[in-house]
Amino acid sequence: MASSPPSLVPVDELTLRPELATAFPPTRAAALERVRSVDERAYARTRNHLRGAVSRLSPYLTHGLVSVPEVLAIIAPDANGKFAQELAWREFFQLVHERDGRSIFADRFGPQPRRSTAAHPRRLPRAIVEGRTGIDALDDAVRALVDDGYVHNHARMWLASVTCHVAGADWRAGAAWFLFHLLDGDLASNTLSWQWVAGTGSHKPYLADQANLDRFSDRVQRGTFLDRPTAELLQGPVPAALAESVELDLPVTLPDLPPPRLDPDRPLLAYHPWALDPTWRADDDAERWLLLEPAFFELHPWSRDRLAWVLAAALEVPGLRIAVADARTLLSERVAAAARGDAAAVRHRLHPAVAHWPGPGDPTPRAFAQRWTNGSAPRSFSAFWQRVGPGGR
Ligand SMILES: Cc1cc2nc3c(=O)[nH]c(=O)nc-3n(C[C@H](O)[C@H](O)[C@H](O)COP(=O)(O)OP(=O)(O)OC[C@H]3O[C@@H](n4cnc5c(N)ncnc54)[C@H](O)[C@@H]3O)c2cc1C
Repeated sequence: MASSPPSLVPVDELTLRPELATAFPPTRAAALERVRSVDERAYARTRNHLRGAVSRLSPYLTHGLVSVPEVLAIIAPDANGKFAQELAWREFFQLVHERDGRSIFADRFGPQPRRSTAAHPRRLPRAIVEGRTGIDALDDAVRALVDDGYVHNHARMWLASVTCHVAGADWRAGAAWFLFHLLDGDLASNTLSWQWVAGTGSHKPYLADQANLDRFSDRVQRGTFLDRPTAELLQGPVPAALAESVELDLPVTLPDLPPPRLDPDRPLLAYHPWALDPTWRADDDAERWLLLEPAFFELHPWSRDRLAWVLAAALEVPGLRIAVADARTLLSERVAAAARGDAAAVRHRLHPAVAHWPGPGDPTPRAFAQRWTNGSAPRSFSAFWQRVGPGGR
């Protein structure tokens, strides 16, 4: 469901907030430093806990500042390791998106088990959006989402579980809300994780209760609407605290820039926000343009913080210029001219989010997914892992 068209502001109004620049420095050096500090044993032991030794690498992986094969090469893990397996989850989701295209944005395997009649793909419970559910672990997670653009995996699962199962809201609204704020907002990981929790993309919906939140957040809260037996959580009435819903307000702002003027005599490397890799064709003598497509942002709005982070990360690619432009309009003729030999070559990095881009693409570096040779998407992570993981056939 589309939101309003993006509004345009001078590019210098899209600067990164200092707190975000400190929490997630938008550089490849910061990404590599994070990779080197991964402690796999501590990760495997503690990753489910809010204070666990997670890497906070996701904004860098999502935007291609570092790739999964590079991470694995640096940490040289035992391929059975939990960290490697989580990276494989990322590639699993990417592969499903690549094979199934935009169908991932609709219920995958069946309707959401508990979707209330009032549910709407752009409405969420007010108390969740405003972080006023009265459940501390949830309210802190909402603050982290909005202020920091990063939420621990377990807290993402809790928010999604309460949204879909306890409030009966539509998972698509939750996914759009997350994608707007998360610095790592990734079409595949986000959409398919919401479907996994909601029970539309897996056969066992994920349900969290108060005891689970308490255990992994070092809290004790009693008498909340989550402090009830599972059956009641799933089948009881929607708690009063979650009954009122609001329409999501997800305004997009893009930089106001002059239209790009491409030089037909110079090779063109077309970048998108999911491949800000400074090492890609680093030695090519080429024009480099990052394309921000208004139609994409209308469908999948981003917050100013998210956009500011990406614009700052784009500075990592020397000579990269920025254009707000529709890729098909900008590139189609040029690709045809290049094919006739009338203009220099055009390339981009293949990614399921830009499957509509014309012209040839270089593959995205992957560690596991290239071993999946079946033409259709894997049905489940376990089917994928059995094939591509250690001991896979
Ligand atoms: C409802 C929901 C929405 C999500 N939305 C996104 C999203 O938009 N973008 C995103 O990158 N991840 C998403 N995830 C997956 C996961 O929560 C994040 O990748 C992880 O929390 C990022 O933090 P980290 O880098 O510290 O992870 P770590 O635990 O340190 O893991 C290292 C890397 O492995 C990958 N990874 C770890 N767990 C998962 C997982 N469950 N699924 C897929 N990849 C994983 C990520 O690339 C991550 O950076 C979502 C999960 C849920 C439940």
